[in-house]
Amino acid sequence: MAGSLLIRLNVAIQRLELAIASVLGRRFPPDGYCLAGVEVQNEPSLPKPAFSLKDIIGDGFLWGVPTARRTIEKRMKRKYGHPDYVMKILQPKKNIKTCSECGDDHLIGVLCPTCYKKVIDETKEMQDAIQKELQLSPVENEVVVLYEGEKAGKPDEFFEGKRIVEIPKPRPAWFSKNLLQQTTQQPATTTDVKPSDLG
Ligand SMILES: [Zn+2]
Repeated sequence: MAGSLLIRLNVAIQRLELAIASVLGRRFPPDGYCLAGVEVQNEPSLPKPAFSLKDIIGDGFLWGVPTARRTIEKRMKRKYGHPDYVMKILQPKKNIKTCSECGDDHLIGVLCPTCYKKVIDETKEMQDAIQKELQLSPVENEVVVLYEGEKAGKPDEFFEGKRIVEIPKPRPAWFSKNLLQQTTQQPATTTDVKPSDLG
């Protein structure tokens, strides 16, 4: 009794679903036929709408595409550059020279970095020696840096009014004494351009 009542209720609900579907205009096939591959037929009276690109892209726009072939000359120029303008490929450098002192290569017009590093290190060592000697006292007198063995042989007048900073090592061969001459000194009487007393 209860079972037949349930069946009747189920059938009634199915009919109600079909009635709603028919009212809404969509007639789906019954569930039992769905697996059989039943197609939903469109209304035969309505013609198929023609394919239109506008339906796909809507109000969008198309990207610009090349409309003409670029010549091989233009393509090569874009790829490798032009010698009159900018070359994009690697070019041999012709402004390199070999240092006559150390043999390293460097650009023409600039100091040899390897040799200049020696100067930097020597200057730093000299600055440290001066700092260690003078410490925080004010620099009121001329500071003279002497390397090992340079103090001997100097006249006593040389040390008057000067602070002597000694560096316990021989002077490097490339370090001329004349490089430390002050610009306030009287100009040299000789016209030699090359510094004397080298080494
Ligand atoms: Zn060098």
